[in-house]
Amino acid sequence: ALPVCLAPVNMITQFSMQYLLGAESYKSIKELMDSAYVEQWQGKRVLEAMRGEVEFRNVSFAYDKEKEHRTIRNFSTVIRPGEHVAFVGPSGSGKSTMVSLMLGFYAPIDGEILVDGVPQSELAIREFRQECAIVMQDNLLLSGTILDNIRFGRPLATEEEVREAAQHASALEFIEELPEGFQTKVGERGVSLSGGQRQRIAIARALLRNPKILILDEATSALDYESEKSVQAAIDYLAKGRTTITIAHRLSTIRSADRIIVLRAGECISEGSWDELAEQEGAFKDLLDAQK
Ligand code: ATP
Repeated sequence: ALPVCLAPVNMITQFSMQYLLGAESYKSIKELMDSAYVEQWQGKRVLEAMRGEVEFRNVSFAYDKEKEHRTIRNFSTVIRPGEHVAFVGPSGSGKSTMVSLMLGFYAPIDGEILVDGVPQSELAIREFRQECAIVMQDNLLLSGTILDNIRFGRPLATEEEVREAAQHASALEFIEELPEGFQTKVGERGVSLSGGQRQRIAIARALLRNPKILILDEATSALDYESEKSVQAAIDYLAKGRTTITIAHRLSTIRSADRIIVLRAGECISEGSWDELAEQEGAFKDLLDAQK
């Protein structure tokens, strides 16, 4: 085995793009490589004690700048430190694009995004992304052991810290039942884990990273009941005290969000808590009815 200090290097070469992006992975890495990935961020400012406030100020965005069509239109909101905000809306309404913009994968064509009041263009974008973690609906596992996979969140973490993260992610029990526990190989040539188990590994990884901003890209397909319960418990633990932004495909898991923003064609058409929105006739109720 590689010495501990070199193990991350091995993973970094396999996952260099994700490493560079700071965020663990978002959509497909290829998509980002192909995209108008913003390399020209020149900002140098590092927020020493980031609070995790994110403001969209009159943000508009188009993937194709030649065309009139705008994917995000004049969107404004302030996401307070520790607030849990969920984006909902039909497919193509711009939920994922909001997150790509927030992470600086693209720059707005109008307006700006501010983090703790600092314009994104002034920020050292890599350092900013280090403060963000993403748990996706389909979490990639690296080829390596479970230990490597969790430790990827913070390569210098001790085994005890990894164990603790696994425990808070409701993953310890199933890991210990595997033939080689934390040393069990996963990924291409290793044992295959269920979707819910992979998700809990990703949550443990994010916990180790201890991000200020957490992005949850919600599963479209339901996990089985038991799995869903333990994933939800792990997510609740992870989200506590952090600014959390959920891209919600299913509505059932965002009941407890502080605020739900309903998007249609890149515009906010209503917002409020679950209870507020569920009472009103309108887009949210239509989405709810459609999922019944
Ligand atoms: P879904 O629920 O299907 O994931 P979404 O609400 O997250 O949808 P986005 O993925 O943000 O929506 O897409 C918004 C619009 O932008 C869509 O019309 C989509 O086709 C377009 N779009 C998304 N990514 C790209 C890209 N990389 N290049 C060009 N257009 C894109």
